Amino acid sequence: MEYTNILIAGSGVLGSQIAFQTAFHGFAVTVYDINDEALNRAKERIEQLKPLYQADLGATNEALEAAMARFTFQSDLALAAANADLVIESVPESLEIKIDFYQKLALAAPAHTIFATNSSTLLPSQFAHATGRPEQFLALHFANEIWKNNTAEIMKHATTDEHVFNDVVAFAKQIGMVALPLQKEQAGYIVNSLLVPLLSSAQKLLVTGIADIETIDKTWMVATGAPVGPFGMLDIVGINTAYHIARTRAEHTGDEAYQAVADLLKNDYVDQGKLGKATGEGFYTY
Ligand code: NAD
Repeated sequence: MEYTNILIAGSGVLGSQIAFQTAFHGFAVTVYDINDEALNRAKERIEQLKPLYQADLGATNEALEAAMARFTFQSDLALAAANADLVIESVPESLEIKIDFYQKLALAAPAHTIFATNSSTLLPSQFAHATGRPEQFLALHFANEIWKNNTAEIMKHATTDEHVFNDVVAFAKQIGMVALPLQKEQAGYIVNSLLVPLLSSAQKLLVTGIADIETIDKTWMVATGAPVGPFGMLDIVGINTAYHIARTRAEHTGDEAYQAVADLLKNDYVDQGKLGKATGEGFYTY
């Protein structure tokens, strides 16, 4: 089935980006958020994306204005969902909020509407029951700055219908994504299943005194041909995020090396305002 009307639910950092990317590629987009204040913030975020599309993709003024003309903003869920073919949910990363949202959406959306979650860390099966249509539900996961980092991980849960899955893979391609299908649920999808262990191992090699930052990065780059090593990657991801991951791991596992990583990241980087590339300094200076 081809989708025409796309509803983006939750218009924060990622929701705004998904909305603009979808409108830019010709779809009618309704943006839903809890109130007009949140929708006004979304409009500002969307405005700020335009120069980035010009700089990074060479988008013309005509294409940007055509995208803007495809938007509707709505804070009433029943009105927002009334003619949606596909809902892409990007509400906060809380199981409670997602369950509450899907229970309401289930009542508001027509029977044919497909629901997709952009959740980074929750599994679709944790809230599939709340959708009232688990076979028409799956994950469609984007990366921050989606117009440049254009991966779309499309992930089934146990009862996702095969046709729905294939249709969402096709849709992801239509909006300019590199579609990456996952046939089963996997925490962290593919990207983070690969990246998190690599970055954790690099940080442990550092805090256990095996080698310094430059040597670890050089090893990875020379040995694999990668343009950047794990500490360079951490500067791009953001050291704050890395700190929260290490702290959570230390709490859950009692692993002393993770605790040493968390302490190092907090004392030498986060507390010094060295958060990575975004602040001009992290493990490296930019
Ligand atoms: P955010 O906090 O920037 O945005 C969340 C938005 O949801 C806000 O506009 C908020 O007003 C709205 N909201 C709150 N309750 C709502 C409700 N009941 N119904 C509708 N909207 C509601 O968060 P974000 O960073 O955009 O993350 C949203 C989702 O996207 C999360 O599931 C997250 O895991 C996922 N994600 C985030 C990133 C990222 O880099 N930020 C990357 C990939 C996926």
